Amino acid sequence: MILGKYSFGMGDRFGRQGKAQLAALIEAAKQGVEITPVWNKSNREHSIIGTRPADVRREADAAVADWDWKGPYYVDADHISLTNVDGFLEASDFFTLDVAEFIGRAAPPTEVDEFVAKHKDLLGAHRIDGMDAPLEIDAVRLKVIASKYLAAIRQAGAIYRHIEAVKGPGTFITEVSMDETDTPQTPIEMFVILAAIADEWIPVETIAPKFSGRFNKGVDYVGNVEQFTREFEQDLTVIRFATRKFGLPKTLKLSIHSGSDKFSIYRPIRQAIDKFNAGLHLKTAGTTWLEEVTGLALAGGEGLAVAKEIYAKALARIDELCGPYATVIDIDRAKLPAPDAVAKWDSQRFVVTLRHNRSCPQYNPSFRQLLHVGYKIAAELGLRFTDALEKYESTIAEQVTTNILDRHVRPLFLRLEDA
Ligand SMILES: [Zn+2]
Repeated sequence: MILGKYSFGMGDRFGRQGKAQLAALIEAAKQGVEITPVWNKSNREHSIIGTRPADVRREADAAVADWDWKGPYYVDADHISLTNVDGFLEASDFFTLDVAEFIGRAAPPTEVDEFVAKHKDLLGAHRIDGMDAPLEIDAVRLKVIASKYLAAIRQAGAIYRHIEAVKGPGTFITEVSMDETDTPQTPIEMFVILAAIADEWIPVETIAPKFSGRFNKGVDYVGNVEQFTREFEQDLTVIRFATRKFGLPKTLKLSIHSGSDKFSIYRPIRQAIDKFNAGLHLKTAGTTWLEEVTGLALAGGEGLAVAKEIYAKALARIDELCGPYATVIDIDRAKLPAPDAVAKWDSQRFVVTLRHNRSCPQYNPSFRQLLHVGYKIAAELGLRFTDALEKYESTIAEQVTTNILDRHVRPLFLRLEDA
């Protein structure tokens, strides 16, 4: 099973927008660019909303059938571990093995020593195509890196073999994610990590490292774009070099998590994947939910009322809602409008405040991020919310498709326009 060169992870909190999401990739295909759709949902999202992996499978199958999509598509068990993977085994054919919490955990010293002894091939100076200076690594450094990552990669191996035992080899896509940790992995670390992954015989197709800078949910990248670009390019070169050296799948590519709305780095990413003829997996989730809120607000009437209610209730429970997302949101509370002021807003005012339009002076990233974590409120509204989704379906679908196509797929994958 091989994931295409370009693939797009689409999360959908409430499972209603699969068809509207896929419409964006159909348009991309019409423009000559094949992008494989992947519907992803993490255990965290499932538990907050009360959905199950089978719901995502149903949604994906229905969207594909509705559009008569002939290409491959996948259902991603996002950020799973040994403790929760079992619930995903039947419905998923893409597994994101999250081993971030094992980074830095001590591997048995004998295992580290064995790894270092086995991998004399990692020592010395490696000249890597596309990298200015050789990648240099000595025994001391190798041992430090192995000590930091070996337990995590062994854990990935254990999860992979657990899935493989049930589903059979070659029947699913494997991603290894290390993004939910504090420090970015360096190119040398990436090199050693890939050697360890090959040792575990994990046919990894996508790898999600932690990049420098902040990848806050639903808003733009915060950090040094030049530094990010350098890191990203180095990762591409190391991956290309390591896949050949260690016999990993030739299709192995980077996966960018919290990838939605990172507009300021899309151009450098696009230029880098073009430069190295590399693939890319972009993972998004909450951006579609925010388009649901935008569509509700835009529709006016009951839709706008529901959007305002979600905001007011989210503000009242801000600490609780932000808790699970502490490392991936930055809300300036002073910039959050009071609910009684928002109550007087018309559709337009609500939409321009929420919509991610960097050139609009009224766009408010704090407002947007609070709504991003506010999906729990919508889940609690139950039928009031889902009835509104149904009532205003066409307005919402248009927002969802436009957002994925114009703001994400176009700058990353479609023909570059002069800018
Ligand atoms: Zn992630």
